[in-house]
Amino acid sequence: MQIELSCEKCRSGVSIEGPPWPSSAPCECGATTPLAISDSLARGDAVDRCAVCGVDVFYLQKDFNRFLGISIVVVGILLYLLLRVPWGLVGLGGTWLVDLGLYFVVPWLTVCYKCRSLYRGFPRNPTHETFDLNVAEQFRV
Ligand SMILES: [Zn+2]
Ligand SMILES: [Zn+2]
Repeated sequence: MQIELSCEKCRSGVSIEGPPWPSSAPCECGATTPLAISDSLARGDAVDRCAVCGVDVFYLQKDFNRFLGISIVVVGILLYLLLRVPWGLVGLGGTWLVDLGLYFVVPWLTVCYKCRSLYRGFPRNPTHETFDLNVAEQFRV
């Protein structure tokens, strides 16, 4: 399991692995971000409280590079344009299937609404839902 957070000082990404979790996340810039690991996180259970900022609101997203997803669709459209019907349609259908396949293969990622820390490899918390703009608005700075 992995937590990916942004360094308090330089905002670059810092990854830590556990459990057992360290009590702080050291960054290359020399700053350390203190962590408050909840009991659930310490056990390797679902994410319930953010180790970095302490809030308990999270959203789920697919741990999937969006650029990759878009390029697959673009390749599909290009194939369609280049090859024309009916083989183009096969290309489009094929890339769509790859996209769909990836959706099932790619695991969920839990993201903190406030500090945007990423929680990777944790069991899915049934109370968490996908991104909700209304909730996110409350944490806009
Ligand atoms: Zn830093
Ligand atoms: Zn947080």
